[in-house]
Amino acid sequence: MNAEIIAIGTELLMGQVINTNASFLSRELSLLGIDVYHQVVVGDNPKRLLEVIQVAEQRSDLVILSGGLGPTKDDITKQVLADHLTKNLILDEQTMEKIIAFHENRKRTMTENNRLQAMVIEGSTILKNETGLAAGMFLKQNNKSYILLPGPPSELEPMFINEVRPLLMSERKEETHLISRVLRFFNIGESQLAAELDDLIENQQNPTIATYAGKHEVTLRLTANGGTAATCLVLLDNMEAIVQKRLGKYFYGYGEDTRLVNVVADLLKEHKMTLTAAESLTGGAFQSCITSVSGASDYFKGGIVTYSNDTKTSVLGVSKKTIEQFGVVSAECAMDMAQKAQKMFDSDIALSFTGVAGPDALENKKVGTVWIGVAVKGKITFSKEYHFGKGRESNREKSIMSGLDLIRRVLLDLPIDQKVFLK
Ligand code: ATP
Repeated sequence: MNAEIIAIGTELLMGQVINTNASFLSRELSLLGIDVYHQVVVGDNPKRLLEVIQVAEQRSDLVILSGGLGPTKDDITKQVLADHLTKNLILDEQTMEKIIAFHENRKRTMTENNRLQAMVIEGSTILKNETGLAAGMFLKQNNKSYILLPGPPSELEPMFINEVRPLLMSERKEETHLISRVLRFFNIGESQLAAELDDLIENQQNPTIATYAGKHEVTLRLTANGGTAATCLVLLDNMEAIVQKRLGKYFYGYGEDTRLVNVVADLLKEHKMTLTAAESLTGGAFQSCITSVSGASDYFKGGIVTYSNDTKTSVLGVSKKTIEQFGVVSAECAMDMAQKAQKMFDSDIALSFTGVAGPDALENKKVGTVWIGVAVKGKITFSKEYHFGKGRESNREKSIMSGLDLIRRVLLDLPIDQKVFLK
């Protein structure tokens, strides 16, 4: 089966919105073994939309349309396709009920346009929208399949995963089971990861292997197909064993939505340990990241932001001598900050962040130089130096991720290179 993606929206043509739906859909379709030969973008214009649909159905088995299902005048997708396939638009009761309930709950008045949102192409299978109002549609005519999806990625992505994916999989006759496993890595770039797995990626068959570069981390998705779920799991286990042997030291967890902070949260709970932080260059962003996980009060006691040298000494109690002798961007200052925070909050672990976020250098230290201090109550205090890049925001984000990684390593007793201890 081959597919074509048509993204509809003048905002896409104007460059105001990036067509992330096409890349998401292409990626997902390739994992289902469906080849995408064409991607098209067209504005909210009925004549031109009809033209691209006519071209698409000449050359593709499956035509996926994204966008234009909303309640406004420029949302033309279902009307154009219905006219083209000489089908009517009919009211979908369930969608209508959902729209009415939405307006009632928010005490909003429904307009005629909102009613239009409940109209679907007759004979289509309705694709539920868990995060929005417009229903998606799947229909077949003359040996061609059509899928209509809403434009916002927050609606399109869950609809594809929960509704479209199972539908397309059931269309595949022989290979009924398809199971994916997502592995997450930190401290390795996508190109290095791809280089380490070059031979596996080059010769991939079953499971397929796809790498994605996220923000400061990389994920690897293995997808196996087979007659039974058990066959798929064996294929995944075998491939994962090879991957772990090569890249295990960078691996931190499984799952599409897992973040390093979630893994650290689970570990802190499991070890029944509490955390605090003293932050300088990250300005509280580390603590904000920690508290983005619900239930963080189980292990996070609170922390402190000491941005200026003055507050480092007067509020946190860092020794003036340490700062005079070594500077604030130093192993010694980071360790002093971590120890003082640990005592102040009486936590099991304390982290500290001090460094040069940029754009200007500090104490003759290059932009991107960061020290992270770690104090573990009654056990160990150390710090580690990092050299990130030139971007201020990226340096702060990388500091946070590296801090999380350090906690994970301490809790799991994993090796940490180049630790510096107090003399
Ligand atoms: P709505 O009910 O929100 O109007 P819709 O199905 O009509 O949904 P559009 O009006 O076409 O969708 O687009 C709504 C928004 O979704 C756009 O303003 C844009 O932010 C986002 N969007 C649309 N198409 C894409 C795309 N291909 N890639 C990424 N984002 C998109």
